[in-house]
Amino acid sequence: MDANLFVINCGSSSLKLAVFDDQHRKRASALAERLNSNDAFARIAGSEQPVPLPSGASHETALSTLIKVLKDQRIMANDPFAIGHRVVHGGETFREAALLDDETIAAIEDCASLAPLHTPVNLAGISAARRLFPSVPQVAVFDTAFHQTLPPKAFLYALPESYYRDWAVRRYGFHGTSHYFMVQEAARRLGRTPVTTSIISAHLGNGCSITAIRNGISVDTSMGLTPLEGLVMGTRSGDVDPGLFDFLAGKGISAEELNEVLNKQSGLLGLSGQTNDMRSLCDLADRGHEPSALAIEIFCFRLAKYVGAMMVSLTSLDALVFTGGIGENSARVRQQTVSHLQLMGFQIDTELNEAHGAHNQGHVESGGSRFPVLVIPTNEELVIAQESSRLATNSST
Ligand code: AMP
Repeated sequence: MDANLFVINCGSSSLKLAVFDDQHRKRASALAERLNSNDAFARIAGSEQPVPLPSGASHETALSTLIKVLKDQRIMANDPFAIGHRVVHGGETFREAALLDDETIAAIEDCASLAPLHTPVNLAGISAARRLFPSVPQVAVFDTAFHQTLPPKAFLYALPESYYRDWAVRRYGFHGTSHYFMVQEAARRLGRTPVTTSIISAHLGNGCSITAIRNGISVDTSMGLTPLEGLVMGTRSGDVDPGLFDFLAGKGISAEELNEVLNKQSGLLGLSGQTNDMRSLCDLADRGHEPSALAIEIFCFRLAKYVGAMMVSLTSLDALVFTGGIGENSARVRQQTVSHLQLMGFQIDTELNEAHGAHNQGHVESGGSRFPVLVIPTNEELVIAQESSRLATNSST
């Protein structure tokens, strides 16, 4: 009998569904976009034919439609034995993945004020899946959970301490599932065990964060209370002077407007005035567009500064690891970033870097580098599948 496990990742207007077998091999995936709008549509990976969705389709409609198509096309025969959900914010409540029941769902709702945009959509996906499969164990895997090991010196802001006590204002960190996967995979490639492996993990996608992992545990990270802090990102500014808020308030820009600008109109997009997409930016820079070249330079410079900052939390380093769409694919970004790190002893081999470390276990450092530099494709879905399978199996024994 073929046993399936679903991984569901809901965004505000999108739903990603991945189907794994009980050996954690990915069997299929599908994406629904523009949900709750007039032009909602979906696609099964590998198929040219879009899956029609009714106008205004909700997350639940998209999910039930995709499951029907997967069954009709015999891509999957049975209902899943477990369902894993990516949940953005678990606050301080969730230090690891959790089996979903009314109590855990209420606890996720309690964290909603920390991620008011993401939590309701995550919960919409969970409710939809629970209605469709009421007897299937479901699991929440949190973006923040891996960072719950941060020590207070790394997670507290230098603010009045009542802000933390009364409102839980602190650094939480995100992309935890990806950073966790990086240390597992780096350890495997280096012939070590995760609990004896220390890395600096740079997840560079549309959102970007960097984490110091000491003996398998997250000890510092660049994202904060929200995913806005830290590195330059596609449309997010990363770090700015908090004095900016008052300065711009004086120019008539409200907190709401500024939040929108910092999240959606800044970063690579804001700097280049053209695009948030690193690949397009590299093309523009190659064609002589100076603001694009400058945007890439600022991106790499900030990243290199943060590599230095992450060193502070480590007593040894087994590898600097690049992942995410940019980290995995942009030799230029890796080269430009590491060029700032020569004093710390990092060196990259041009040829290995151009090949993204293929055929070399991801290694792109040169012979003289003090530390390995690795390129590792991330696989958050796999971690969610493994965690969901583990918890679902435990729940039924
Ligand atoms: P993600 O959010 O992980 O899917 O990453 C998206 C980012 O990866 C976008 O900025 C893409 O332009 C970037 N990216 C993907 N492929 C490449 C590439 N070959 N060169 C540079 N950037 C890339």
